[in-house]
Amino acid sequence: MFCPKCGKENVDTAEFCSSCGENLKGKPTGVSQETAVGPIGILFFCIPLVGAIMYFVWKEDKPEKAKRACHLALWGVGVGIVIQILSTIIQHM
Ligand SMILES: [Zn+2]
Repeated sequence: MFCPKCGKENVDTAEFCSSCGENLKGKPTGVSQETAVGPIGILFFCIPLVGAIMYFVWKEDKPEKAKRACHLALWGVGVGIVIQILSTIIQHM
């Protein structure tokens, strides 16, 4: 990898830059803001996705299960929207 500070090439396993001593294992700047939604937001984004997939997988063989998966997906969308709104409000407080 290349040092983000001075640009010198270091081995990928290096923890610190051999030239300027920059911490290469540290969190890259700018990425932390994108993950501000948090794992809960991602989880409730995945539930409707999984529910939709299960619905299409089961709708032929197991219509009852498919219906339940569909309900789960709708429920996940609703909860996900509420969580997104709440987290947005909290962030702007
Ligand atoms: Zn460096």
